[in-house]
Amino acid sequence: MNADGAITVTPVLVAELFVEGEVMPVCVHVIDHPDGRVLVDTGMTELHPAVVAAFDPRLYPLSEQDFDAAGINIVVNTHLHADHCGGNHLFAGRPIYVQRRELDDARSEDDYTIREWVDAPDLQYVPVDGELELLPGVRLVPTPGHTPGSQVVVVETGGRPVVICGDTAVWFGELDEPRTEGQRRIRALDPEKVWLAHAQEPWRPRTAHAEDHRQAERRDSHDRSTNA
Ligand SMILES: [Zn+2]
Repeated sequence: MNADGAITVTPVLVAELFVEGEVMPVCVHVIDHPDGRVLVDTGMTELHPAVVAAFDPRLYPLSEQDFDAAGINIVVNTHLHADHCGGNHLFAGRPIYVQRRELDDARSEDDYTIREWVDAPDLQYVPVDGELELLPGVRLVPTPGHTPGSQVVVVETGGRPVVICGDTAVWFGELDEPRTEGQRRIRALDPEKVWLAHAQEPWRPRTAHAEDHRQAERRDSHDRSTNA
C-alpha cells in the first residue's frame, strides 16, 4: 500500500517468448490498493513441451524473483492461456477471479491451454459472469475477442482510468485501430493508459496534440527533402 492511499499499477516481467525471431515479453501486473494487493495474471514458472515447441521461452518466475507472493490477496486471470495462468499454483487458497466462460472453455476445449496448470491443486476460482467491482475503484470488465471469455481490469485513479488488458490487445496497433468487441470496449472507456501483457510500456491514446506534432514533423521532413 502507498502512504497516500493511491492505487498504483506495476508491471513485472516474468518471461520472454521467441516468436518468429522477435522477443515477446510476458508481463503480469500488481495493483497496490489500500484494501489489498491484486495480481493480474501469473505468467509461467516451469517449461512444458507444448510451450517450448511454440515459443522457446525464457522464464523469470515470480517464485524466483524478489516478489512477495504471500502479500498478494487477490488474483485475476484475464484469460487462461498457458502464459497467463502458469503461476496460479503459487496462489493456492487465494481467490482467483476469472470469467466463468473462460474457465469452462479452458476445462473443456482441446489445445486451449495446459489444463494441469489451470487446475493445479487447491486453487480456488471465483467464476464471474460479466462486470464485477473487485475493490473500490477496481473492476473486472468482460472483453471478448482474443478469447470469448477474456476480461480486463479497470482501475480508477481519479482521472481517466488505467486498464490492464491481458491479451485483449496483443500489440499496440490493436488499440490504435480496435477490431474486436473487447478492444472497442477498452477504447470506449477513454483510458489514460493500457497495460498489455506482451509489452513492457503501456499503450496511450494518441492525443490531438501528438498528432499535430507528427504532422508538423512530416511537413518539416517533406520540406527538407524538397529543398534538397
Ligand atoms: Zn499471452
